[in-house]
Amino acid sequence: MAYCILQIALDTPLDSVFDYRWPCEPGSEPAVGQLALVNFGRREAVGVIVAVKQETDVPLEKLKDALAVRSQLAPLSSKWLALARFAADYYHRPLGEVAMPGLPKNLRLSTTVALDRALKKLAKLEDAHDPSPAAMPVLNPAQQQAADAIGQAQGFTPLLLYGVTGSGKTEVYLQACAQVLAKDAEAQILILVPEINLTPQLEANIRARFPGVMLATLHSSLSEGERMLHWLAAHQGRARIVLGTRLAILASLPHLKLVVIDEEHDPSYKQQEGLRYSARDLAVWRAHQLQIPIVLGSATPSLESWHHAQTGRYRRLELRERAVKDAVLPRVKLVDMEKDKPKEGLTSALIAALRHRMEVGEQSLLFLNRRGYAPVLCCDACGWISNCTRCTAFMVLHRPEHRLRCHHCSLELRIPHSCPTCGNIDLQPLGRGTQRIEEGLQALFPEARVLRIDADSTRRKGSAQEAFDTVHRGDVDILIGTQMVAKGHDFKNLTLVGVLNPDTALFSQDYRASERLFAQLMQVAGRAGRAGLESEVLIQSRYCQHPLYGAVMRHDYDRFAGSLLAERAQAGLPPFMYQALLRAEAPELATAIGFLEQARDAVPSEDVVINDPIPMTMTRVHNVDRAQLLVESSSRPALQAFLRVWVDALRAMKSRVRWSLEVDPMDI
Ligand code: ADP
Ligand code: ZN
Ligand code: ZN
Repeated sequence: MAYCILQIALDTPLDSVFDYRWPCEPGSEPAVGQLALVNFGRREAVGVIVAVKQETDVPLEKLKDALAVRSQLAPLSSKWLALARFAADYYHRPLGEVAMPGLPKNLRLSTTVALDRALKKLAKLEDAHDPSPAAMPVLNPAQQQAADAIGQAQGFTPLLLYGVTGSGKTEVYLQACAQVLAKDAEAQILILVPEINLTPQLEANIRARFPGVMLATLHSSLSEGERMLHWLAAHQGRARIVLGTRLAILASLPHLKLVVIDEEHDPSYKQQEGLRYSARDLAVWRAHQLQIPIVLGSATPSLESWHHAQTGRYRRLELRERAVKDAVLPRVKLVDMEKDKPKEGLTSALIAALRHRMEVGEQSLLFLNRRGYAPVLCCDACGWISNCTRCTAFMVLHRPEHRLRCHHCSLELRIPHSCPTCGNIDLQPLGRGTQRIEEGLQALFPEARVLRIDADSTRRKGSAQEAFDTVHRGDVDILIGTQMVAKGHDFKNLTLVGVLNPDTALFSQDYRASERLFAQLMQVAGRAGRAGLESEVLIQSRYCQHPLYGAVMRHDYDRFAGSLLAERAQAGLPPFMYQALLRAEAPELATAIGFLEQARDAVPSEDVVINDPIPMTMTRVHNVDRAQLLVESSSRPALQAFLRVWVDALRAMKSRVRWSLEVDPMDI
């Protein structure tokens, strides 16, 4: 029997590519990109074949036979493998660890029952034939220009669709998609959104507009069976439109012709654990690799993308007006909390505005990015406060659930009846979260229909959707919520937005805090007056003179972004500097810092600045202390070259400290 050697990438830490033997005649070898089942250590694992060879350096007695090749599945394309390889190189992780978790779990099982079932189901599935797509609204001239620019773009064309909230960006995407699908009978389109639960309207819109086109969704709340089916539909080229969250960027799309990234500035495009990749950045790379257009849409683009548009790397498309007839952006006013002292967290100006909107039968939204009842419980008698015993953080009071909860390590305690230190029974909640505001609203407006939407109120599957439907039906007068309510939604009858406690972000250590706060305020303000009713936004603040609020009042993203970019250039921060962050975790802070000091001195470098290790702002989480070390360079290639050598040196240190490297970190 003749044998060939399969080089297979497996999801393992460190070295991830291994040689296996497989019986095959010359000319009938398995293909690169096919999946294979092998014995690895004491388990069975599925990996992807990255090379087929005749020889190997592995001694014969150590060489194992592969157990099976998944020949019923078409191989992953060389382009897809190149994407995985790029991500692995750029983020300095093993290839298999990047490639394999991107595939549905059911493909990585040792049996093929699930795969065969999905293939059968897909083969039986007929393409939908509905002759009557929903009518496309007539675009306004700016929208038409944008849709045409996207639909007609040739080759690698990154387009920044900068459109104010309510300017009809979705409509531009859909009509550009229609052009691309009409031009090319095989074309596939990938649409990325920050969180699928927040955009159910988009999925319904796509189905209504393209009834004859197979749509596949890819996101974390699919069942494994669904995920398998949708992934296969994309892999076989049958799904012409794939709508997904960041993980969909690694989908196999053999005929990909257009990528759309909605709300491209959204932090959720960045994966915050494991392989810490940016789906937006990978999408731009993928579009470049395939020489296709990519649209990045936002009312408040990330400074990175804005900078690229300023320097001409990205082409800018603008929508300056709201799309609905007579709809204008809301008036934004600041309410000075020093003069108008809040009651139940609400100033008299905001209370009067809420009352007025209720009288005229319109809806209001209160935005507070803090869930729970109060961020901390304390004892006035002895100074005890509800610290988490495992983290550098307070335990948050959740009154309806009768719990103290740590939002970082999930520790839960019953609310103590009396002070654990001095026995005082009069413990006081300090500060306000959404639950407390909800309680205050009910006291102030007993007749109002108040609804709270946050992570706590929407734990049950489907409950977020139900809650949003209630708002759309008009069965809510005042909606109170966290960032879950701030993005994306098109509430027709909502005309007042109150922002409750934004000041803390003004003085954050994180240099990105003001960029984020500005985007958040513009987004939440953008929920008001979308259907043409007169609308306003009230921001309660103690720092009404702050220039950031001035820019929000003028809806002036351009100038604000310009001044932030100037500051970043001056301070030597991204996008003018390229960074990587090494994090270390240990039971004792000194151990983590010690490891980082060793790392700092491991490899000399001229083009890269290696900073000193520091404890992370929230040092302790779940009984582990965390520290970090920042390396930076004004040249991306220089940083990458350094990281390649450095990561090898770090691995060679064989330290028992847990460490991880993040390229282009978002939170420092
Ligand atoms: P954005 O994503 O830019 O915030 P949307 O795409 O949600 O805005 O559009 C805002 C509203 O404008 C939606 O209700 C949409 O149906 C409507 N709309 C979009 N384009 C048009 C148009 N050309 N004519 C009339 N209404 C439009
Ligand atoms: Zn006490
Ligand atoms: Zn904790």
